[in-house]
Amino acid sequence: MTLWQHIAARIGEATGSNFRPQPPHHLGGGCINTALRLADGDQEWFIKINTADRPAMFEAEAEGLATMAKTGTIRVPRPLLTGTYDGQSFIVMEYIASGGSGAGSQAAGEQLAAMHRHTAEHFGWHRDNTIGATHQPNDWRDTWIDFWREQRLGFQLDLAASNGYAYLKRLGEPLLERFPSLIDHDPQPSLLHGDLWGGNISSDREGRPVTFDPAVYYGDREADLAMTELFGGFEREFYAAYQTAWPLDPGYAVRKTLYNLYHVLNHTNLFGCGYAGQTQRMMERLLAEC
Ligand code: ADP
Repeated sequence: MTLWQHIAARIGEATGSNFRPQPPHHLGGGCINTALRLADGDQEWFIKINTADRPAMFEAEAEGLATMAKTGTIRVPRPLLTGTYDGQSFIVMEYIASGGSGAGSQAAGEQLAAMHRHTAEHFGWHRDNTIGATHQPNDWRDTWIDFWREQRLGFQLDLAASNGYAYLKRLGEPLLERFPSLIDHDPQPSLLHGDLWGGNISSDREGRPVTFDPAVYYGDREADLAMTELFGGFEREFYAAYQTAWPLDPGYAVRKTLYNLYHVLNHTNLFGCGYAGQTQRMMERLLAEC
């Protein structure tokens, strides 16, 4: 039995249906995984496949999608199952066809703010997950400053040093000490998408916003907003709607750089020196702020 036949059988079991799909249609666009669409006349499913050592990545993704779906706010694909077979791991979720424009729209701003209203007692999540292909630790912390220092920036700085960027760790370490002056507000632990760049938001056929590929945890909602601005920014209506629903605190502009530094460092760790210069410039700018 091939992998896709195995997955089709699992889908049939999970849905209690006689799922007999056509051979898979391979989709492009994913940064990390191979993506397929499996469909018969009645059902269609989106499948991501990776090597067999990645089941935890997909289990955490499924749990993140389910957690977001439960809020009933911004649409995400509903996960169906995960598994491993024949040396590969996979996740199966609802297939959501892209439709008209709507990504980054007013509705997306309102719905993201509504999702951020779902809060936890502490910062973190009950399990680790993945950011891109990088491990993302989520140990609970009582304060946001401790969380961002230990579970986010400090973790990526250690990774940078082990990837040959010891100078970035040396430059970044003094920043960790200066978080109290950089993060000078008192955020709630909001449910975050965690990886909200433009490639992870779209719209369904009805034009409703949809987000994909989250790296969820409970943290400062500004970290989600910051990432929307990292690669060009969303539409103006998105920010206007978000600010109307839940205005950001003063000082966001500086914190935005600190939050995006995490993602740019992660890009350096994943894709190499093309991002190291940008990382260094962001650190220098932040050091000049405090
Ligand atoms: P990767 O984990 O490899 O980065 P993504 O989850 O980001 O892959 O998916 C890659 C692209 O595939 C997305 O940008 C989106 O356009 C599309 N996609 C993701 N999930 C679905 C889905 N459930 N239904 C339809 N298209 C999807």
